[in-house]
Amino acid sequence: MKRQCIRVNKKKGEQVRKVLMEMGVLDTSMRIGSDEQYIYIPLTSDVDLAELSLEDIQVTEHEFKLHEKPATLENILGRTPSYEIIGNIALLESDETDLERTADALLKVQPHIRTVLAALSPVEGEFRTRRFTFVKGENTTQTVHKEYGCKYVIDMEKAYFTPRLGTERSRILEQIKDGQTVVDMFAGVGPFSILIGKNRTSCRVVAIDKNPEAVKFLRHNIELNAVTNVEAVEGDAKEEVQRYIGVADHIIMNLPHTAQEFLDTAMVVSKPGTVIHYYDITPESDLYSTSLAHIESAASKAGFAIEPIATRIVRSYSPHQFNVCIEVRITG
Ligand code: SAM
Repeated sequence: MKRQCIRVNKKKGEQVRKVLMEMGVLDTSMRIGSDEQYIYIPLTSDVDLAELSLEDIQVTEHEFKLHEKPATLENILGRTPSYEIIGNIALLESDETDLERTADALLKVQPHIRTVLAALSPVEGEFRTRRFTFVKGENTTQTVHKEYGCKYVIDMEKAYFTPRLGTERSRILEQIKDGQTVVDMFAGVGPFSILIGKNRTSCRVVAIDKNPEAVKFLRHNIELNAVTNVEAVEGDAKEEVQRYIGVADHIIMNLPHTAQEFLDTAMVVSKPGTVIHYYDITPESDLYSTSLAHIESAASKAGFAIEPIATRIVRSYSPHQFNVCIEVRITG
């Protein structure tokens, strides 16, 4: 593309480029041209050569090439798509419309992505799974996700997993002390349990899940990460806890929509000093009070009291609802 430019001897090229840049007349959308003797610096507007106070420069015209834009999703699509990455699968959210084009852009820009899926449903049902449709790449819902030094084999259609809780899991790990017993009541494929087991080798972790597929991956992931202190238990937490009465130093209750129904169950594995990490979905108008009241009432039924330790928003769930974590200590 022809453009007005400054022609200058190569030796003075950099000096002139800097001056033009400072004057704000350098056209950065074009690549600077050259031949054996001169370089050609594209301009955005006319320049008074006297201002440059340099010899051996001339205003002329030259054929320039455009700078290639870096291949980013925004450059290709003109917008930022909404997606998350689990292992080498990119998952497009259900509000994505231009699925094929977005998938092509993702496969081009992020070479480690091998599969693009689109969500067909929200997380649903007792086992908290989602339905997907295949869009591009390798047709699979299985992948290996790496998080905080652990690896998880996941089949996204068969068991729940989200990378969005990675930071939350590391926060919980920080609270677990050597030698403690942790009961992960809704363990899924093991991201809380295995992280704790791997980093606190003197701890005992009881990882329960009702979904047989989740437990199959949980067992596989325990081996994959070479952890020997995580016990995978397949079954309903309400029944399985009867084998672990009063053993827990920490209880992880990551079943946000229905955790309240399992508070009596949590009290079975509790003892004075137990810390419960309770996850819920709550409205912004009542982030913690009602949930705290439920925990208090279950504790009191079991002959305990509670001491609130911490409350926090883990992430936003919908425009006026939040995924929150409430941490309480059981007292005698
Ligand atoms: N903690 C895991 C994670 O962070 O990926 C999984 C959390 S997922 C929201 C909840 C899990 O609870 C699912 O894997 C589901 O199968 C399991 N679940 C649902 N009802 C259960 C029950 N009654 N007893 C044990 N597990 C149950």
